[in-house]
Amino acid sequence: MGTSSRHGHHKPSTAGPNHDGPPSLADLAAAAAMPAAPVDHDRIRRAVREILYAVGEDPDREGLQETPDRVARMYAEIFAGLHLDPAVHLQKTFTQHADEMVLVKDIEFASCCEHHLLPFTGKAHVGYVPDGKVVGLSKLARVVDAVARRPQVQERMTEGLADLIMTELQPRGVGVIVEASHSCMTIRGVRKPGSMTITSAVRGLFRTNPASRAELMSLVFGQR
Ligand SMILES: [Zn+2]
Repeated sequence: MGTSSRHGHHKPSTAGPNHDGPPSLADLAAAAAMPAAPVDHDRIRRAVREILYAVGEDPDREGLQETPDRVARMYAEIFAGLHLDPAVHLQKTFTQHADEMVLVKDIEFASCCEHHLLPFTGKAHVGYVPDGKVVGLSKLARVVDAVARRPQVQERMTEGLADLIMTELQPRGVGVIVEASHSCMTIRGVRKPGSMTITSAVRGLFRTNPASRAELMSLVFGQR
């Protein structure tokens, strides 16, 4: 005899995850959001010790002993996007027949400039005009986060976000505006603290229709 009776047990018909079928989109998204594994921590630790030697430091002095390990964990975190597919966040869509602009403003992000490996941080504004297909608003923030976490330049990040949303949601138009402060401009080189770099990428309606583009820009920059 079994230890527990299955008498009267029935499968839930609609609600709840379906454990017999393929993984749900939520499961896939959760898996994709897990910390990336393929980072070679040992290699980073060795490299950081080398850099410390090279600049004239002693990596074995007390304050620096844990530094190579901390830096390895930090790189795994800030470059986690290299091992994620940001498109997973745009797979669960809803049908909506309104064709008004959806804009999520002030999505904070941290990325890393590929020329100096220094952070650039700021805000992304993502607007689109759906063509029947919309996503949850928080998904746009997740996409920005996944795309941000890699070495890159701001221009490519902006274009990549616009192209990804265009491909996945097939909206009537997409506009992405990114404003960021680059450490490589504030703490070194020209040393201009407070300077902001603004990039934009527009697709579809926002490219072809000046009134739509103007509406997007005024919603993003109007109230300052
Ligand atoms: Zn740079």
